[in-house]
Amino acid sequence: MLVVMDKNATPDQVDRVVRTIASKGFVARPIPGGDRISIGILNNEGPVDPALFMGMPGVKDAIAVTRPYKLVSRETKAEDTLIQVGNVTIGKGHLTIIGGPCAIESETQAMTIAERVKQAGGNIFRGGAFKPRTSPYSFQGMELEGLKILAKVRETFGMPVITEVIDRETFDQVEAYADIVQIGTRNMQNFSLLKRAGQSHRPVMLKRGMSATLEEWLMAAEYIMAAGNPNILLCERGVRTFVRHSRNTLDLSVVPVIAKESHLPVLVDPSHAAGVRDQVIPLSRAALAVGAHGLMVEVHHEPENALSDGAQSLYPDQFTDLCVYARKIHDLLREH
Ligand code: PEP
Ligand code: MN
Repeated sequence: MLVVMDKNATPDQVDRVVRTIASKGFVARPIPGGDRISIGILNNEGPVDPALFMGMPGVKDAIAVTRPYKLVSRETKAEDTLIQVGNVTIGKGHLTIIGGPCAIESETQAMTIAERVKQAGGNIFRGGAFKPRTSPYSFQGMELEGLKILAKVRETFGMPVITEVIDRETFDQVEAYADIVQIGTRNMQNFSLLKRAGQSHRPVMLKRGMSATLEEWLMAAEYIMAAGNPNILLCERGVRTFVRHSRNTLDLSVVPVIAKESHLPVLVDPSHAAGVRDQVIPLSRAALAVGAHGLMVEVHHEPENALSDGAQSLYPDQFTDLCVYARKIHDLLREH
């Protein structure tokens, strides 16, 4: 933390800041500049709250220098984290494509889509069994039946499966069936769920909260890692903005920033960002071009009859095209 004083801060005001820092057990290091003085805070183990200083007389700004997140930070671990799920490696240098319906609706639906996802070259199958729906009257998922269908998909097609967990009560059940446990946007700051995910032996995909800053998102990942689980993949899925041409706004600028700040793999979900099918392929290409390690895309063989998110689900043929583009972009980037 660096406390920047006003140009005309008095020596007394500077002294008060120095004493406040000392009273917290930290070391204050005044740094005289051309026209103002700044005071560095040393010996603090964790982050110091800038609000402590912001209201003090003579203080212009308080700037955090050390990051609040530790375990997920590159400062702590410089090498990229790779996550192994069955025969799939997720992370830098690898392309992971997750495809499947928003929700598991029946065995026939799941099997039909899984076959196409596999044929197209998708590596992991997705499908919600517990759905966090905005309306209590919407389809809530097939629950345990859905998990059993996912297990059948894994067995039949040899693909790992990912599915969302929405609460602690059903965590054991979901973890028993899923190869990757997904924490959705609505639960990104469900700290109790994050702590439980930290005790899981399964990798966790943590989706970005729909209005979360990068810092809040990484702090949520820090909860999982601090509770003991190092296998976390981040997934950008769009944030809420004022636009109406898409469901959310895909924040691709976050991808290179994560690569700088964190060693964790980052995937992009263009489906929930777009909300409409025709934006999904262009956004997917862009996501890979900015360095995402993979994609998670909704696919449905009969999207007009889907029980959730049909409008944004790709037809299987479109998913096949997407996989072709994705491999080309991945190979092109690897050559450079
Ligand atoms: C999902 O992936 O099925 C989902 C509900 O996504 P999100 O949490 O990003 O809305
Ligand atoms: Mn969905």
